[in-house]
Amino acid sequence: MKNVCWLICSGVLAAFGLSCGGTIAENPMISAGEASSVSVAHAKPFDGERAYGYLKQLCAIGPRPSGSPGMKAQQELLERHFTNLGGKVTLQRFEILHPVDRSPVPLANLIVEWFPDRTERLMLCAHYDTLPYPMLDPVDPRGIFVGANDGASGVAILMEMAHHIPNLPVRYGIDFVLFDAEEFIFRPTDRYFIGSEYFARSYREGRLPYQAKYRWAVLLDMVGDKDLDIYQERNSMWWREVRPLVEHIWSIARRLGVREFIPRQKYEIRDDHLMLRNEGGIPACVIIDFDYPPWHTQGDTPDQCSAASLAKVGTVVRQWLVEAK
Ligand SMILES: [Zn+2]
Repeated sequence: MKNVCWLICSGVLAAFGLSCGGTIAENPMISAGEASSVSVAHAKPFDGERAYGYLKQLCAIGPRPSGSPGMKAQQELLERHFTNLGGKVTLQRFEILHPVDRSPVPLANLIVEWFPDRTERLMLCAHYDTLPYPMLDPVDPRGIFVGANDGASGVAILMEMAHHIPNLPVRYGIDFVLFDAEEFIFRPTDRYFIGSEYFARSYREGRLPYQAKYRWAVLLDMVGDKDLDIYQERNSMWWREVRPLVEHIWSIARRLGVREFIPRQKYEIRDDHLMLRNEGGIPACVIIDFDYPPWHTQGDTPDQCSAASLAKVGTVVRQWLVEAK
């Protein structure tokens, strides 16, 4: 994900980085004993501990930038995982030239279809590539970046969500789409959102390998921070056709007592939802917690994330799938 301004945002992080959201104990709907699973009446708890286990499993692969052995290992893990749980997995493969040395780099968006016979569909998406280097790391900007929050957290929620989808009372078909090359970035001027741009254009031009008419798309990025604060993102609120989606999701959070979804705007974030909406014509919002001091540093590791945060976001999003109109 890219903030509107590369330089200002690290200042913003420094200014706001220590704020943190409501704790479990403040939340009337979630007792300390249920810290990793917010309950809703119709369903099994969204298992935050299992989601956090997936997050650690992804980070244990190591760095997973586009075209790397880590990305390949991740793709194999995810293809196995989603197939075993009943999803239909497709890799939308394409190739780009490396932004620095111009060598060919194979890319793939990973698509998981549920209820493939339904044409009207909802999309849950995340990026699954990690930044090649922790470029904002104060000590070693060429060090190791595993992207626990920025990369693995959205994927881990979808891995857990896969356990719930087959029995979820939904009227739409559902696709998980994991975008490659969201940030295959070596210099601030390099192109972001390559995978989502390719996907959105394929959709608009009728070149996806399946029939789909997307009613809504919800992008998950940086949703695992143990100090969770999720404000409404400004682009998502400005777009007139998308605003009701954001308001619906935040109203579900309020009803479920998930206070970490704060019904106010704070940041304008450039992320994959811009491509889905502007290139694909899909009403798309992002759920993102940008108050995360280790952003794009070596410190973005699993200990900065929590099972409770993954459970909260997962529970709200799962309920939205059920209620989406
Ligand atoms: Zn990032």
